[in-house]
Amino acid sequence: MKDGEVLPPGSTIGILGGGQLGRMTAMAAARLGYRSIVYAPEAHSIAGDVAVAHAQGAYDDRAALARFAAQVDVITYEFENVPEATVAECARHRAVRPGTKPIHFAQHRLREKEFFRESGLGTAEYQRVASDADIAAATALPGILKTCTEGYDGKGQARVGTREELAAAWHALDRRECILEGLVDFRCEISAIVARGLDGRSRSFPIGLNDHRDGILRTTAVPAGLPPEIQATAESYGLKLAESLDLVGLVALEMFVTKDGRVLANEMAPRPHNSGHWTIDACATSQFEQLVRAICGLPLGAVEIIAPTRMVNLIGEEANDWARYLAEPMARLHLYGKGKARPGRKMGHVTYVIPPKRSA
Ligand code: AMP
Repeated sequence: MKDGEVLPPGSTIGILGGGQLGRMTAMAAARLGYRSIVYAPEAHSIAGDVAVAHAQGAYDDRAALARFAAQVDVITYEFENVPEATVAECARHRAVRPGTKPIHFAQHRLREKEFFRESGLGTAEYQRVASDADIAAATALPGILKTCTEGYDGKGQARVGTREELAAAWHALDRRECILEGLVDFRCEISAIVARGLDGRSRSFPIGLNDHRDGILRTTAVPAGLPPEIQATAESYGLKLAESLDLVGLVALEMFVTKDGRVLANEMAPRPHNSGHWTIDACATSQFEQLVRAICGLPLGAVEIIAPTRMVNLIGEEANDWARYLAEPMARLHLYGKGKARPGRKMGHVTYVIPPKRSA
């Protein structure tokens, strides 16, 4: 596909990664008449279960990637830890949307924070920690020490109050390159999900209010109930980010709102995001459909919320209560078809779309 060309329904989308985000992308694609092929290292995937094919291959298997690319019209990825080299390899054969740039920044927390600042987004105070000298010079205390790579859902992180604690935590993280972020006394956590199309036009879904437990997203509520100026800043951050990434696709930006009303960018994911699952049930266009539209060169869809909504993740054994959710008239149950419910594993979610009150 050449830049600017529209991929009509009937075309095939390649998805790198076989998890629930790929699964829900393939479901949205199918609804619009697209076919999906999933590429993942595992023999079986829950995304492959709802796609026309599952191609098993390692992320560094160039021949397998070339075969995959030859079968599809455009490629996207469902998680940002796909190796950058894999995305670059795919891009030699087919358009990858979004491409390597968002991955390059999203895979490395320090680069990511620097990119936020360069893009005009506020962040917490931060500094690099990669040596004893860095620890001696550390000022962002109390803070959170995070590995620059491979940390997610609160893993690879430690809260530290003093330089001694910082030193101990850094050693416990195997002296890997880390970022120390000043501890934000936040009022709440929010996220923006922004799509940007091939024509460069962007749209932000309404800001979601996120509640985490043990580092894992628990619920998202929309509207977030924030003062209009905070909502506007949060949306503008998401839009600025999409622009400076030169994105074609979707990006989620997680942010803190401080008690004194500032918005600080924490983390981005250039893909559909757990905090946007509510859009399936509460928007004319879901985040997954929006991604399909963006990467296929279609106009973006409406992002307005139909009614106030709350999404609750089903983590581990909570998904075993599926019968209870089915019995709740206003609950919309989504299960990802994963086998075993391990603690901390995201098994599904429930969306409550609350109908507007009838006028008297
Ligand atoms: P992260 O992996 O960066 O998304 O962090 C996981 C969770 O840890 C966030 O959702 C916050 O609840 C908390 N957290 C991360 N960074 C900070 C920070 N600088 N200050 C306060 N809390 C944080």
